[in-house]
Amino acid sequence: MSCDFLALAQPGVQKLSPYVPGKPVDELARELDLDPASIVKLASNENPLGPSPKALEAIRGELTELTRYPDGNGFELKSRLAARCGVQINQVTLGNGSNDILDLVARAYLAPGLNAVFSQYAFAVYPISTQAVGAQGKVVPAKDHGHDLEAMLATIDENTRVVFIANPNNPTGTWFGPDALERFLARVPGNVLVVLDEAYIEFAEGDELPDGLKYLARYDNLLVSRTFSKAYGLAALRVGYALSSAQIADVLNRVRQPFNVNSLALSAACAALDDADYLAHSRQLNDVGMAQLEAGLRELGLSWIPSKGNFIAVDFGRDTAAINQALLRAGVIVRPVAGYGMPNFLRVSIGLPAENARFLDALAKVLSA
Ligand SMILES: *Cc1c(COP(=O)(O)O)cnc(C)c1O
Repeated sequence: MSCDFLALAQPGVQKLSPYVPGKPVDELARELDLDPASIVKLASNENPLGPSPKALEAIRGELTELTRYPDGNGFELKSRLAARCGVQINQVTLGNGSNDILDLVARAYLAPGLNAVFSQYAFAVYPISTQAVGAQGKVVPAKDHGHDLEAMLATIDENTRVVFIANPNNPTGTWFGPDALERFLARVPGNVLVVLDEAYIEFAEGDELPDGLKYLARYDNLLVSRTFSKAYGLAALRVGYALSSAQIADVLNRVRQPFNVNSLALSAACAALDDADYLAHSRQLNDVGMAQLEAGLRELGLSWIPSKGNFIAVDFGRDTAAINQALLRAGVIVRPVAGYGMPNFLRVSIGLPAENARFLDALAKVLSA
């Protein structure tokens, strides 16, 4: 007799739906028999610049050491991040992408009977990490597609151990300012860990968005998570990090896989941190691309959610499944967000100017067909 191994999985896992990533270029090329080079992918908020030459050089320097385990403590990268962020090295936790950080938090602090609070339309990994450890996700209705921090505060109960907030949020691009964060942190119970996910913070300018690091000294229940996947252009290598109190970092370190960040990723991230030109170029390209997309969308009579990320959620006012399919046939991959409860939207990552133009052209044809 065969066993039902789905029924044997822990209840939270049984109810999980796997994360749905953006469609890979090669997959679409195979499906439609297209030349991969002709396909434009604006679906995963990747950096369109290509990797930093300094990061590539650092990787080449590591290749002869591939037989050895990486530095499990990530000493060099953690030292540099600590210096850069104005914290002690024992306040830094490295992750296999910041995704890993979110999982570490869930494994260390959540369990059946406990809950995590996060917003409707929040990053899809929050519910997955929460459910995977058998905890409950308390979803707070969004306000104008953004986090309703007041309502999130009101949702916290005695079983809440974690609040996940993303600033800006993906897939909506919505953000909150320093005053809102300040008011929030001042009122969250001290025993609730606030995970402030700043995956796109490097794209923000001025002080429209708070810098989470500024609050670490005052709030020992705050964890700021950041990544090398977006503005630093190293998504394939999987490196992210958390900054928190030394005590929280110590706890996360207990559940962390011993070698969770590989040696190529460690050295490339060190090099990328030093490549100020690359970061400046990423930002500038993003600003130009955002303006280009907004102008093009306006011309097409479409609206969108204003975004501080490297992507924009476009509102078509009707179900977008057919539009998405037509864009795929034209060789343009964007991201459907029906899985987030936003069936009328498509999320478009900012690409190179020529890629943005390809998308706008294809969209114009699809909409007039
Ligand atoms: C992309 C993203 C991340 C993390 O990605 P990693 O590649 O795992 O570092 C985290 N949070 C949000 C909101 C994101 O959009």
